[in-house]
Amino acid sequence: IIVKSFELIEKPNIHYSDIGGLEDQINELREVVELPLKNKKLFEELGIEPPKGVLLYGPPGTGKTMLAKAVAAESNATFIHVVASEFAQKFVGEGARIVREVFELARKKAPSIIFIDELDAIAARRIDIGTSGEREIQRTLMQLLAEIDGFKALDNVKIIAATNRIDILDPAILRPGRFDRLIEVPLPDEKGRKEIFKIYLQRMRINENDKLNYDLIAQLTDGFSGADIKNVCTEAGYMAIREGRESIKFQDIIRAIDKIKKKNLRKAINTR
Ligand code: ATP
Repeated sequence: IIVKSFELIEKPNIHYSDIGGLEDQINELREVVELPLKNKKLFEELGIEPPKGVLLYGPPGTGKTMLAKAVAAESNATFIHVVASEFAQKFVGEGARIVREVFELARKKAPSIIFIDELDAIAARRIDIGTSGEREIQRTLMQLLAEIDGFKALDNVKIIAATNRIDILDPAILRPGRFDRLIEVPLPDEKGRKEIFKIYLQRMRINENDKLNYDLIAQLTDGFSGADIKNVCTEAGYMAIREGRESIKFQDIIRAIDKIKKKNLRKAINTR
């Protein structure tokens, strides 16, 4: 069987307006990815080089993949999605071959953005490279670095990577000319949570007698990621379905917050 190691999306269907609470991150990405892809001449005339690679780091479910897709969409760039952990379980030489293929495809489909999720799976600092699996991962990383070093800052290919574990990355990957722009994507603060709730709840049918108290639900969800907030909204929808209603009550959202909170707590205990 052939396992698909990467996914190509001609035009992702995500826009900046779908993302809540990450305004600074969006602005920075526009400057370092979107602008150079759209207006190469400006950079050439000014004589400055944008970063080749950008690293998004922060906890799971905070919108890193969404950000990368949205910049691709708004830059009219092809989006090539690679999950680095998939390289880790391939045959000898396979990981490096896929890396080569991905870059070849990116050049062919330029302007394009290569998104490497879970970068830490191939770019973690290694103390011991004794096993053949470890050596294979090392070879894959070497190929990735060679590919990045092999193109120019103003070529129409950009690389965005994401990780939850910036603390374990090999410093070689962060050197100038590689992933030398780091953008933190943290858990949303209260204002951010309110924005994310708005994005999802405005698309849902709410009981017309209920007024949504966004301040309250933002306060009740301290520590929630964007993914958790989306889960809350979906869960509230299911509560309406189960009770045979055609609209969601404010109380459903409160109950759903409680449910997701308990679920996250159980998960935290189980992974300890
Ligand atoms: P991971 O590290 O687990 O890959 P991630 O940071 O890439 O996570 P995404 O895949 O972008 O997270 O987010 C998961 C889902 O959570 C998104 O599809 C979206 O529905 C929702 N979500 C996360 N963050 C936000 C946000 N800031 N605004 C709106 N929705 C969000």
